[in-house]
Amino acid sequence: MNKITIAIDGFSSTGKSTIAKQLAQKLHYVYVDSGAMYRAVTFYAMQQEYISECYFFKDKLINNLEDIHLSFCYNSELGFAEIFLNNVNVENDIRSLEVSNFVSRIAEVPEVRRKLVEQQQEFGKNKGVVMDGRDIGTVVFPDAELKFFINASADKRAKRRFDELIKKGDKVTYNEILKNVEYRDRIDSTREDSPLIKAIDAIEIDNSDLSLTEQFDKIYEIVQNKLRNI
Ligand code: C5P
Repeated sequence: MNKITIAIDGFSSTGKSTIAKQLAQKLHYVYVDSGAMYRAVTFYAMQQEYISECYFFKDKLINNLEDIHLSFCYNSELGFAEIFLNNVNVENDIRSLEVSNFVSRIAEVPEVRRKLVEQQQEFGKNKGVVMDGRDIGTVVFPDAELKFFINASADKRAKRRFDELIKKGDKVTYNEILKNVEYRDRIDSTREDSPLIKAIDAIEIDNSDLSLTEQFDKIYEIVQNKLRNI
């Protein structure tokens, strides 16, 4: 059967990566979490002290982009590929609230975007890929056969993210998470380079009131229809 490219975009913490992982597993496709790539660059910038609450040495980051090597390595126990920054597994480090608080500023930098988009296009060049992010259906794969735009209320999204972080043992409050979700929504959708917008040919799904199973069934049916008709 012919393989296709599936782009999944949407606001923060809408569960895009859960859907993308489930689809990739079911279809035996490659899953790429493009947000993890922006997060890993952010983690690098924090380690190098290029960014903090008081400063952002954007030029230093741009001048040292060549030193950042990102790769994914499939973890069969987890059932998805973890991200490595310069050969170190940073999958856990990049999910902290601190990284979430800086990532949208890093993702605004056109030079960072150019580098990551190039790598994302390379990952998807043979099709058979499910990629989630903010600009996948608009910039990375504008010709993707199937595009989804996932949404949910900010409150629901913050609650889900809060539960996830608490489960991991992070000390965060619901209000901090809600603030971060709203902050990232604003920056991600108003930035000049590749803002988060729904591609005109994307199928919008609001999952505020859908269970994971209901959501998966709905999306998988659309995918099956597509695959039957290409
Ligand atoms: O998907 P996730 O929430 O992990 O993404 C973290 C951040 O990375 C987003 O808030 C956004 O600023 C940035 N991002 C982006 N373009 C993508 C994926 C993520 O700008 N394709």
